Amino acid sequence: MIEKTLVSLEEAIAIVLDNCPSLACERVPIGAALHRGLAENVTARREHPPWNNSAMDGYAVRSEDVADASTSQPVVLNVVGEIQAGATATQVVNRGEAIRIMTGAPTPAEADTVVCVEDCDRTGDRVQVKYAAKRGDHIRLKGEDITTGQQLLTAGTTLSPAALGVLATAGYSSVLVRRQASVSVLATGDELVEPGEALGPEQIINSNSYSVSALVRDSGARCLTLPSARDNPDDLKTKIAQALQADVALVIGGVSMGKYDYVKEVLEGLGCRFKFWRVAVRPGHPVAFGIVGSGRDTRLLFGLPGNPVSCVVGFYQFVRPLLRKMMGHETLFLPEVEATLAADFRKKAGRTHLARATTTFRDGRYHVQLAPQQGSGVLTSFIGANSLAVLPAPQTTFSAGEVIKVQLLPE
Ligand code: AMP
Ligand code: MG
Repeated sequence: MIEKTLVSLEEAIAIVLDNCPSLACERVPIGAALHRGLAENVTARREHPPWNNSAMDGYAVRSEDVADASTSQPVVLNVVGEIQAGATATQVVNRGEAIRIMTGAPTPAEADTVVCVEDCDRTGDRVQVKYAAKRGDHIRLKGEDITTGQQLLTAGTTLSPAALGVLATAGYSSVLVRRQASVSVLATGDELVEPGEALGPEQIINSNSYSVSALVRDSGARCLTLPSARDNPDDLKTKIAQALQADVALVIGGVSMGKYDYVKEVLEGLGCRFKFWRVAVRPGHPVAFGIVGSGRDTRLLFGLPGNPVSCVVGFYQFVRPLLRKMMGHETLFLPEVEATLAADFRKKAGRTHLARATTTFRDGRYHVQLAPQQGSGVLTSFIGANSLAVLPAPQTTFSAGEVIKVQLLPE
């Protein structure tokens, strides 16, 4: 019986990832590819720099002319021309000559060195070079950054701002990435009203739709936030059916053992095949994962707990890795570091605790301090926290000074 089965955090993550489809690829302009999962190996179509060029504003010279220059014995050269970025180096630099050159301008073939403008004194057509420049100084060599055919990026890379610049430099105006997942967010509960709406005495403001939708967008997926559903089978059925239009549906609340928690039966009615229903984790124990439909119409669904902390933690553990895998990212999980625990902590055996925490790097190592309030309704504990401390299921006592694993949260 699936509802009796309590899977471990690790098992649950493995089940989610095992059932992960890969989304189709699409070619997008590089300007639209930030943080997308690259779906092809990229080799350079062109070299960079395309020619030797100056790294400084200065004078293109021959190194043998300036090898002995010094402040007390400057070398005087005749300035025979000027090259700006975008211009062609047509003039020749003969012995005893210099050409004024700007950053990025091609260096004339005979000039093997650039001396910085700050280290020279110019008078009319003459320039005094006051230090001994070495051969090759301030010249960026053809192909020193990228050679044609060089492997630059591999499929699975998360495209960073710098990677987009590299793509542009290497001759790409578009790139193959995985399509973005569409994710629907459906909060459930009779007690919910929207921010700004009149609040009855027994009502609370729907916060989960806002935190979870933001997490979806932060993961690089497209988010469809639905109006929240009431705790009755009809409304749930209608709204869950809408939620299942997306690749992944996140139904929040109504998944625990409450009398009015109808989400599970409605989902079963819609043909959902649950892979797990409860996970040995705290917070976020009543978290469900299931599959609806088949073939090209397959939809994945998470039932996340309504407690505001639990649904955020559940998102980070299960939903974010799934979305990243679907969208073609090689790195699925939050970065993890080992950190020294600041104070003793006790818990019951059986569940992995993911405690909101502040992790800092000091004296060559990470230190982690758990937030004082760990209640699953205390969302404010995330403010200022930058991490989740991983306290393994079997362990009950943790001592100050002990080294534990910590997941670092994105900003
Ligand atoms: P549930 O999972 O539906 O049993 O809800 C657990 C707790 O989370 C209850 O205290 C709910 O009032 C609260 N809760 C459920 N949904 C939301 C929501 N969208 N925003 C804020 N709190 C919620
Ligand atoms: Mg509820």
